[in-house]
Amino acid sequence: MAETIFSIPDLRLCSYGTTIAAGVLLWILEGFNPFFSTEKRRGAHAKLNLSLAALNLLVLLPSGILMAFMLEWSKNAWPGIRMLALPPALEAILLILCIDLWMYLWHRLNHETPFLWRFHSVHHSDSTLDVTTSWRFHSMEILISELLRIPLFMLMGAGIEHLLLYSLLMTPVIEFHHSNIAIAPALDRLARLIIPSPMMHRLHHSRERSERNSNYGSMLSLWDRLFGSFMMKENLDDLRIGLDRESDPDKQQLFALLQRPFQP
Ligand SMILES: [Zn+2]
Ligand SMILES: [Zn+2]
Repeated sequence: MAETIFSIPDLRLCSYGTTIAAGVLLWILEGFNPFFSTEKRRGAHAKLNLSLAALNLLVLLPSGILMAFMLEWSKNAWPGIRMLALPPALEAILLILCIDLWMYLWHRLNHETPFLWRFHSVHHSDSTLDVTTSWRFHSMEILISELLRIPLFMLMGAGIEHLLLYSLLMTPVIEFHHSNIAIAPALDRLARLIIPSPMMHRLHHSRERSERNSNYGSMLSLWDRLFGSFMMKENLDDLRIGLDRESDPDKQQLFALLQRPFQP
């Protein structure tokens, strides 16, 4: 199994370290070379998004412990992918593909189900896109996502080491495609052969519904191409980020964002 290749404490440390290091590096680069010139104060914008992220840690810490416990317990109850007796590296690659496919489907479901969109729209109501948007989610979206993941990953036969490995690979990609760094169009084209690029994800944050309901991928752009949701425009000069009405400045406050999904 993958823990024979990667030790769980090392993976955990690497995953947290990479998330923080990539976040800080992208934040610095955004200051030097931004794609959107924003008149908004970056500090105030980051403070709101990081407040939501801090609340999410209250959900993620207990759910992470529950996930680790349930996956450990299910190892003896249901083999999942282990019944194929594959080499550990191949098993890890297949599980990472399956987890990323689930992330694609879950994100798409958040856009296509009115109940889930209530919570996911908090992520999209950000009128400025930068690396801190990658941590801006309503806690209820995180909670529902975590509760659904547990039985699904048990069914797959994933171990906590596979989840940590996926998180180590996926989180910097998510941070990168939310970042407000201007990169050369050729580099973006190259990136989107493999990952959802910043240009792809900017289009996903468009106020235009037809553009917003595209480019759902988290780590790989493959799923959008495969399931017909890939969309690209070479010129995003006219792109308006956010949601009509929801992105108004008076609604961009912590308690207003937390309450919003529960209002009519
Ligand atoms: Zn979305
Ligand atoms: Zn996003």
